[in-house]
Amino acid sequence: MHVFEMKTEEQNPKERIHNFKEVCLGYTKEQAIEEAKRCLQCPVPMCEKGCPANISIKKFIKYIADEEFDLALKVILKKNSLPGICGRVCPAEEQCKKKCINRPAINIALLERFVADNSEKIIESVKKTGKKIAVVGSGPAGLACSSELVLMGHEVVVYEALHKPGGVLTYGIPEFRLPKKIVMDEANYIKKLGVSIKLNSVVGKLFSVDELLKEYDAVFIATGAGLPYFLGINGENLNNVYSANEFLTRNNLMKAYKFPEYLTPIKRAKKIVVIGGGNVAVDSARVAKRLGSDVTIIYRRSRSEMPARDEEIKHAEEEGVKFMFLTSPIKIIGKDDVEAVECIRMKLGEPDDSGRRRPIPIECSEFKIKCKQIIVAIGQGPNPLIGKTISLNTGKKENIAVNEKYETSIEKVYAGGDIASGSATVINAIHDGKIAAKEIDEKLKRG
Ligand code: FAD
Ligand code: SF4
Repeated sequence: MHVFEMKTEEQNPKERIHNFKEVCLGYTKEQAIEEAKRCLQCPVPMCEKGCPANISIKKFIKYIADEEFDLALKVILKKNSLPGICGRVCPAEEQCKKKCINRPAINIALLERFVADNSEKIIESVKKTGKKIAVVGSGPAGLACSSELVLMGHEVVVYEALHKPGGVLTYGIPEFRLPKKIVMDEANYIKKLGVSIKLNSVVGKLFSVDELLKEYDAVFIATGAGLPYFLGINGENLNNVYSANEFLTRNNLMKAYKFPEYLTPIKRAKKIVVIGGGNVAVDSARVAKRLGSDVTIIYRRSRSEMPARDEEIKHAEEEGVKFMFLTSPIKIIGKDDVEAVECIRMKLGEPDDSGRRRPIPIECSEFKIKCKQIIVAIGQGPNPLIGKTISLNTGKKENIAVNEKYETSIEKVYAGGDIASGSATVINAIHDGKIAAKEIDEKLKRG
């Protein structure tokens, strides 16, 4: 048995910047078994305390060590219907892996991914309750809630605005991190469980939440945080300034990187500046790199404050993305099209509300970076449409206010995922969807 963490193969950076194929290749059967055998099978598995979906990690790892992969998947599916997705994008280093007591810690996410990719999902029939629930949005929160509810015997209809299910998993996270086949396979599994997903159905335009309430026993709103924030600086309306949301959607959902095979075009500028420090900024930069651009990320704090996952930053560096820290944009320069961005240098002061040190501008440190395209990735807020059609109480950032049962201010209307939390992670959205499903089920049983 190995004492070190089993590593996986990755596509060579020099090759992968010319394609959109997955970077991390995942465990082989032999590697997965070796890694699973390192698990100490702790009497109190701390790893499970770090999993928002509450997966029986110790048990599924034991099944992998025993080469019982279908049984391992069955254990995971009891708690999480999106294992191939979570095995790829969960920040495990901050969750289950962080809590694992073994040294080095077990690579639980890669084991979950291995099981999801290499086992059969078995569908069992359930007794119907005759209750109907509408779910608005098919991102991880909506998919998790609907799969739980259908397994409890309820009829579930998901309304999705876009022409494909998955939310950010489909339109935001790039193919080289999360292949869309994996998202579609897991959405199809949820459909096979009996969930009906109605695409191209914008709630708030086609029908209101009030109308849904007449037809359904409860409504779960999971419309995410798809509204991009902008900087509010001069020049932001010049040609070739994109929100990360638009840039990523064009490439991931509309396959603009395959233009003209796909009809959506995308600007391929020689020099691009991406503004931001989260996963969204890093994803945008890595997509731009694959489109052939010279890419620089500018971030107003230092590297250690970057919210993006370490692994993603490392991958971006390997791919030749440049980073300029302690730098903030103050003006975008150009006539019709972007020609440069004027920036100011920053220093770090005392911690702010986020707990990170506050960036403070350094006087007279302005300078210009020449570029032909800018991608703004400084965050996103809740999709506003639903809020315009139904008067739900909202929180600080216009997110829908919910209590610990994910109930909103209107009876029978629940909400979860990014629309309620602001902006979080896939597994937190799944957690919300699961808890809301449990609460809806209990309320319906009580009558
Ligand atoms: P979403 O995924 O946003 O889904 C909401 C769905 O609702 C969408 O499909 C939308 O079209 C639909 N919708 C909206 N309004 C309506 C309406 N009126 N009617 C019908 N449907 C509607 N998290 C991680 O854990 N790991 C990562 O690596 C990671 N990377 C990320 C990269 C990017 C580029 C982005 C943007 C986010 C990333 N996140 C990551 C965050 C994570 O993706 C989100 O927290 C998660 O997707 C939120 O799930 P959700 O179901 O609440 O909403
Ligand atoms: Fe295995 Fe680590 Fe969980 Fe212990 S904490 S059961 S070693 S994965």
